[in-house]
Amino acid sequence: MSIEADQHQLPDARGYFGRFGGVFVPEVLMEALARLEQATREAFADPAFWSEYEALLRDYVGRPSPIYHAERLVDGPHAPIVFKREDTNHTGAHKINNTVGQALLARRMGKRRLIAETGAGMHGVATATIGAKLGMQVDVYMGAVDVERQALNVYLMKLLGATVYPVESGTRTLKDATNEAFREWAARVEDTFYVIGSVVGAHPYPYLVREFQKVIGVEARAQILERYGRLPSDVVACVGGGSNAMGIFHAFVGDAEVDLWGVEAAGHGVGSIDTAASLNAGSVGILHGSRSYVLQDDEGQVRDTHSVSAGLDYPGVGPEHSYLKDSGRARYVAIDDAQALAAFHHTARREGIVPALESAHAIAFAQKLAVERGPGGLLVVNLSGRGDKDVRTVAALEGAEVAR
Ligand SMILES: *Cc1c(COP(=O)(O)O)cnc(C)c1O
Repeated sequence: MSIEADQHQLPDARGYFGRFGGVFVPEVLMEALARLEQATREAFADPAFWSEYEALLRDYVGRPSPIYHAERLVDGPHAPIVFKREDTNHTGAHKINNTVGQALLARRMGKRRLIAETGAGMHGVATATIGAKLGMQVDVYMGAVDVERQALNVYLMKLLGATVYPVESGTRTLKDATNEAFREWAARVEDTFYVIGSVVGAHPYPYLVREFQKVIGVEARAQILERYGRLPSDVVACVGGGSNAMGIFHAFVGDAEVDLWGVEAAGHGVGSIDTAASLNAGSVGILHGSRSYVLQDDEGQVRDTHSVSAGLDYPGVGPEHSYLKDSGRARYVAIDDAQALAAFHHTARREGIVPALESAHAIAFAQKLAVERGPGGLLVVNLSGRGDKDVRTVAALEGAEVAR
């Protein structure tokens, strides 16, 4: 399967998806982003770059990931639900597709050091993993609260040879870790490459992360056509920053008959204070270098967010999703903590697959949509990752003891 860069689609030359995206960063980073854009353009035009990326995805990550018919998920008449199994990837989620691509780009640019922000630790682990494989130094910035909550992933990053720096500013979570990673990049632009974890940030990041994640949709589209002889009626994915969703959406955007659904984390409810549903409850603003929907108060202060799943607990969203929302090409719904937890348990019991809590949001929505569509429909759900990392969280919520 051949992946190559898409240079005829958005963003435009200035990094905009309609009115979203762009470059809103301090002066010191303008030059670094311009150089990154130049290097990205050159790498993407070089077939040797893509063949090395594809070889690593095949031999190291374990691609293509399978598709799987989740037959026992819904009772009664319903559309078949097919999982795209990103949970089977090395390190357990889609994030490795992106870190492999960015690390190869970093090496090509002559950088010796990778830095990354991380929330739950999945992106930090994926960056530490490819850093170990390519022999590069890796420094990870992580909110101090998350360092406490995700002790296992912190230790895993250390095992892989990375250094984890707890960030003590703000709410001491992902948003603050991202601020700190940008600051650190500005301070050491010469030898450092900032590996961003989702389709967010200033141009060219939303574009280049999409290009490294679109393998998900390219594979899924071909696999579905081969097995079912038709396109799906619907494609469903959870949305935090939006990289797994853009990854599976991209190959289907041109198929007008395929409905695209992004599922955000409602937390305690879209209308509540405790939510992370940026597209459903946010307004247009600027966060981490680009214009998009942001959860902010009337004065433009970024709001604190909540979701039971750390990977969706982010006040912004990638600019391309804001564009797809406003154009109507994709629709964005929200699933709350309780519904996601129910889908987590249900998928474990009925399918023998423990999904990531993030992915459980997409599954919860798909269960409803499958009944609505009926047997004539065909749903593809991106199973963005496996739930091993969430077992302790779920156990704690239910008062169960899990040995430390
Ligand atoms: C990080 C993560 C997400 C959320 O990130 P996106 O950029 O929105 O994809 C979703 N699922 C899993 C398993 C993750 O680790």
